[in-house]
Amino acid sequence: AKLDAIKKAGKLVMLTNAAFPPFEYMGNDNKPAGVDVEVAQAIAKDLGVELEIVNMDFDLLIESLKAGKGDLILAGMTIKPERLEQVDFSKEYVKSAQYVIIKSGSGVTADKLDGLTIAVQQDTTGDFYATDDIKAKEVLRFKSGIEAGSALSSGKCDAVIIDKLPAEKIAANSSGKLEVLPKALTEESYAIAVAKENKDLLEAVNASLDKLIADGTVDKLIVKHMEI
Ligand code: GLN
Repeated sequence: AKLDAIKKAGKLVMLTNAAFPPFEYMGNDNKPAGVDVEVAQAIAKDLGVELEIVNMDFDLLIESLKAGKGDLILAGMTIKPERLEQVDFSKEYVKSAQYVIIKSGSGVTADKLDGLTIAVQQDTTGDFYATDDIKAKEVLRFKSGIEAGSALSSGKCDAVIIDKLPAEKIAANSSGKLEVLPKALTEESYAIAVAKENKDLLEAVNASLDKLIADGTVDKLIVKHMEI
């Protein structure tokens, strides 16, 4: 919705995929939690409205935003030219990169991914890398990075390509079965997506982000949700 309509309704609707810790995951109360949830709550507070969260598959987020099912996407979403044709992005609020998760001791290296079976989350920058930048034997596409991690644990693939902090979380929860290789494959910027032609909302989002970045809130939220 437009900014005046959001204020009138008293409600800001965030679209996300709550299977991407530390940025968004299902908390103990079965409600979405994470860095992005708290960033969106701060934006809603600045606007003087309530935050509502709609959880869906990552690959449906952009079309749902375009269809007016929400006002913003916060989903650890990377700015990409093909996405910029469909939505507008705020300024960057987190820097990230794609990393490789392997089975501990398997000897797979980040320089030799050609010919391997790679698991990814569908329609993410990890999927784009596995599909376009290497010659994988096969790319297994899952609805969430956590499912891709399970495929690796159960021997269905040789590696997972996924964003840095979610990779660290998946490895940390694997009881030593999985490890993250130290090499960054890409350089990426996370930003908040809003519908095109919604300049007032975009400006308000950027103003809130300026504060949250400058006062260290975003960095603190990352530390907090990596520890959970
Ligand atoms: N940063 C990646 C992307 O934008 C992954 C995001 C995610 O899986 N939530 O495609």
